[in-house]
Amino acid sequence: MATLQAIRDRIDAAARGAGRDPGAVTLIAVSKTQPDDRVAAVLAQGQRVFGENRVQEAQSRWEARRDGLELHLIGPLQTNKARAAVALFDVIHTVDRARLVAVLARLAQERGHSPALFVQVNTGDESQKAGCAVAEVDALVAQVRGEGLPLLGLMCIPPVDADPAPHFRALRAMAERNGLAGLSMGMSADFETAVTEGATHVRVGSALFGARG
Ligand SMILES: *Cc1c(COP(=O)(O)O)cnc(C)c1O
Repeated sequence: MATLQAIRDRIDAAARGAGRDPGAVTLIAVSKTQPDDRVAAVLAQGQRVFGENRVQEAQSRWEARRDGLELHLIGPLQTNKARAAVALFDVIHTVDRARLVAVLARLAQERGHSPALFVQVNTGDESQKAGCAVAEVDALVAQVRGEGLPLLGLMCIPPVDADPAPHFRALRAMAERNGLAGLSMGMSADFETAVTEGATHVRVGSALFGARG
């Protein structure tokens, strides 16, 4: 568990070390399953960008005090939760299949607005993991764009025991060839590596809040 400033300093140092502008890296504080006193402490330190894994948990934590915050959905999204998700979140990082894109497009039509989106890529092609297959990325990106939805970039979660750097590099190459600037990659264990490899959004939970119960 570290202060917000300590995490921010590590991000900034990694960015500078890679010749990047630290201001180009957004820190998403991943508050999923954290007790409210820890979340309150991070809010009190000035953090305003938070990430949650589950729509219902995010609603109960944030709906009543949503003003001034930027909320990111970083967990898998079922289509039957999409309506609630687009009503709550500013950014959805986990668009990973054609059917979900179609549902998000319909909701955007209805509402006249859509959260910003990332396409999640299963860079390790792990059978149990969310994210579209590496071979499907370009087609899914084209579909999101074809629907006129606001697409920021690509997101990945490398395999647990793998060196994350090659996965971050691969994601960056996929984003570049698709003309996408956003890269949501890096968690507590590897966010500095991710920043070195070009992350624009790092998702940090336990290093900031402490271990999840
Ligand atoms: C939980 C989670 C995180 C944060 O994980 P930490 O290791 O606690 O930083 C980041 N991204 C996703 C998609 C997560 O589910």
